[in-house]
Order: sequence, then C-alpha cells, then structure tokens
Amino acid sequence: MQRLGSRSGRISEPAPGTGRNAHTVSVGYRHSLSDTVLLMREFLRGLVRLHILHHAARGEIHGARMSEELAHHGYRISPGSLRPTLHKMESEGLLPSRTQIVEGRSRRSYSITHSGQRVLKETIVKVRKLADEVLGVQGS
Ligand SMILES: [Zn+2]
Repeated sequence: MQRLGSRSGRISEPAPGTGRNAHTVSVGYRHSLSDTVLLMREFLRGLVRLHILHHAARGEIHGARMSEELAHHGYRISPGSLRPTLHKMESEGLLPSRTQIVEGRSRRSYSITHSGQRVLKETIVKVRKLADEVLGVQGS
C-alpha cells in the first residue's frame, strides 16, 4: 500500500494557537469544514499522483505537459506546483527523471519504473472497487 504524501508540499494549515484564525464564524462549522477540505485535498492529491502514473506509463512526461493534461481534467496546477509532487514520486522510486535541453532550456522528463507500474496497477484495482461501491457501478 502506497502511503499518501506527508504534510510537506503546499498544504499549509495554520498551526493551532498561532492566532491566524481571525474570522469568528461558528467554531464547530469551521472545524468540520477544514477537516473536510483537508481530507479532500489528500484525496485529490492521490488522484493527481495516480493521473501522473497513468500518463508516465504511456510515455515520458514532464511538468508543463502534465500541468496541461491535468487542466483538461479540471485541475489547475502550475508546472511549478507540480514539481514537488514529481520530485517526491522520484524519491519514492516511482518516476526516475532525466534532464534534457529543449530549445535551449533544460527540461526534466520522468518515466515510470517497474515499481511505479506495480503501484499503478494495484491502485487501479482499488479505485475500481471503490467506484463500484461509491458510484454504484454494476461490475462483473
Ligand atoms: Zn489524463
């Protein structure tokens, strides 16, 4: 089972007691809302990772191209914002990179490892089972 990303990256919830929550909306509401947002962020981050693996399995990818691809699916993530995720997936042994010079600029391209392909396959099985249940898809 692949662990979801740690608290690194772009999620920046204010630490408790830092006094940054100046709004005084109902505390209970705010609390449950932020929990939901956090949970969905983790889930969406997982979807982005799965999407990256899916495309890397079909051929080399790079940040800008992947950012465009995600935009087609309604995710607005700039290449710069995608970089930490790609680096993390590289450090996890899923997506090794190589640097190329394209039109005078260096570009980092990512391919998928056997380990990445295994993670992709296992995740697809889980997503399919979840979709069957959550979406009520009538499977086999
Ligand atoms: Zn896609």
